[in-house]
Amino acid sequence: MSITVVGSIAYDTVKTPFGQRERMLGGAAVHFALAASFFDEVRIVGPVGEDFGEAQLEVLRRRDVDVSDVERVAGGKTFFWQGEYGWDLNSRETLDTQLGVFEGFAPKLSERSRASDVLFLANIQPDLQREVRAQLPQARFVALDSMNLWIDIARDSLVSAIESVDCVILNDGELRQLTGKANLVSAAREVLSWGSPSDERSGPRVIVAKQGAYGAALITRESFFALPAYPLETVIDPTGAGDTFAGGFVGYVAAHPEEELSDELLRRAMAHATVLASFNVEEFGTERVERLSGHEIVARISELHAMTQFSGAPLALRG
Ligand code: AMP
Repeated sequence: MSITVVGSIAYDTVKTPFGQRERMLGGAAVHFALAASFFDEVRIVGPVGEDFGEAQLEVLRRRDVDVSDVERVAGGKTFFWQGEYGWDLNSRETLDTQLGVFEGFAPKLSERSRASDVLFLANIQPDLQREVRAQLPQARFVALDSMNLWIDIARDSLVSAIESVDCVILNDGELRQLTGKANLVSAAREVLSWGSPSDERSGPRVIVAKQGAYGAALITRESFFALPAYPLETVIDPTGAGDTFAGGFVGYVAAHPEEELSDELLRRAMAHATVLASFNVEEFGTERVERLSGHEIVARISELHAMTQFSGAPLALRG
């Protein structure tokens, strides 16, 4: 089957303690699509301006991403984002955001994009996320990402968008901000309670709380699971790590259409998400993931598996 993703396709200017890049290929939907393309066919939906190059589209095509719903707006300028990271890469300052062609964007999905069984609503205005969600009413699995900006200025619309998806993937700080709950587990449980009380199947069933360099937690109505980030000695640029993580997670779920959304499946998806994100941060922008191979992913999954296992050997404790 296939995955449709809607979100930003961007030029990013990024400065980290290890160097800088001007107007490199970026955007939440791009990072997501490259990661998810290891698991299933991906259809990317979003606008670009006249300044968007063929070479950038070719990066997506080389990973077999369907770019036919990338809308080139005549006379328009591609979304631009500029950010700078602090010395330990944990803090990031946004220096500039130019919406460009995103201003006035009305998503037009082709029949092919509407036929996907999995949908990812990358971080965009929640009204747009709801519009796209409504165009894929039959999707088997729908996930959403967002950011502090929309919690600040469009919270009601974001809550409605969340109520219409199966899975919410947010930074832990954003989950706290969204719910006003300081405790992460309580915050996730609150979001899991959203949706229609009379319909057990409505509202999100899966919450993923990303914790940057510390890893990520998975909270469902029945269970909790967490993984550390894959330990790297050299991190060059964390831009897009969250979207790459989402691409690994959603991609893995999409690649298993016959399996029910069990805890076991979701835990394997968490491992693949963690590994994909770890490659993304090793170089600037999309550079590392562009030349990543399936073998490298498999090898790192088995390392992550080895380093997160322990035996539950019973011990008669004193006292
Ligand atoms: P992440 O590091 O996972 O938060 O994602 C960073 C990516 O999101 C960059 O490639 C940016 O182009 C894109 N981005 C930054 N701000 C926004 C925004 N307000 N709306 C949509 N995409 C954004």
